[in-house]
Amino acid sequence: MKPPQFDYVVAASVEHAIELLEANEDAKVLAGGQSLIPLLSMRFASPTMLIDISHIAQLRAVRCSDEVLAIGALARHVEVEHDPVIHTAAPLLAAAATWVAHPQIRNRGTIGGAIAHSDAAAEFPAALLALDATIVTRSQAGERRIAAADFFGSHFQTALDHGELLVTLAIPVSDAHMRWGFYEFARRKGDYAIGGAAVSVRLDDDGRCTSARAGLISAGPGPTLAEGLDQELVGRWVDAAAVASAVARAASSIAPADDVHGTSRYRRAVVAESLRRALHQAFDLSTVHTGREAV
Ligand SMILES: Cc1cc2nc3c(=O)[nH]c(=O)nc-3n(C[C@H](O)[C@H](O)[C@H](O)COP(=O)(O)OP(=O)(O)OC[C@H]3O[C@@H](n4cnc5c(N)ncnc54)[C@H](O)[C@@H]3O)c2cc1C
Repeated sequence: MKPPQFDYVVAASVEHAIELLEANEDAKVLAGGQSLIPLLSMRFASPTMLIDISHIAQLRAVRCSDEVLAIGALARHVEVEHDPVIHTAAPLLAAAATWVAHPQIRNRGTIGGAIAHSDAAAEFPAALLALDATIVTRSQAGERRIAAADFFGSHFQTALDHGELLVTLAIPVSDAHMRWGFYEFARRKGDYAIGGAAVSVRLDDDGRCTSARAGLISAGPGPTLAEGLDQELVGRWVDAAAVASAVARAASSIAPADDVHGTSRYRRAVVAESLRRALHQAFDLSTVHTGREAV
């Protein structure tokens, strides 16, 4: 199918994009186009104007201080996958990038687009939830900083308001106390995951868990923060039994939908097993896995 008619404007700067967004109620931002263009072609969206932000160099920058990694909205998936700064400061995010779609899509798609699109089956939203990241937006009213846990809603909804552009993702820099794990299961490498989990934990000098967060993939109508990990894991030396109990608690609070890829019960089992494997990886519980075993 062909997209409906729309006006097309190339934004010259962040200020220009914001001005256009504010003035055009039905406008949509175009970044890498890897989600928006298929939606237009299938006529699931019919904006009157596309505001192409892909030439705004300022939105591509990756900067890292001692505490915060700031990734511009236009950083492409392939850059997140390979950038040495991101690899060191947010290894979970770099690992998650390798699971997103296929190289052709990773060459065009942007991390800001993936976050604004807010697909429950996407890898980056889950990783940002696990990392307790902050989403930074700009509008004519100024800058807004939104915790990832408050940003994602259900069915592709986000906290973005009319006239607001996602400009930066701010992520706490990984240090010697931080561990991570990632696992997802898809029918074929590159397909959207049937279920998955991104995990970030902190340990004290004695190896006791001081925080634990996980973003779950395909676990509900939107990107999902796992419930109850703190209560089950924090303050203890985590072993397989503690992980099993945390997984059971998190899995009991999710309600994945039935669809052609599996029943709700099947998806819950896949998400739970993914979370178990990602937690074992994070706590180094000796389960060696390659990410390609049958679930
Ligand atoms: C065949 C195929 C397979 C895929 N598989 C996967 C997969 O396995 N995992 C996965 O995570 N993704 C997958 N994707 C989606 C891909 O990762 C997209 O690149 C990504 O979701 C959107 O990024 P984009 O830059 O292309 O955004 P666009 O398509 O340009 O935009 C997506 C949405 O975000 C909005 N938007 C974009 N940038 C901004 C901004 N800065 N501020 C405000 N709003 C903004 C747009 O208006 C639009 O609503 C797949 C896509 C295809 C075509």
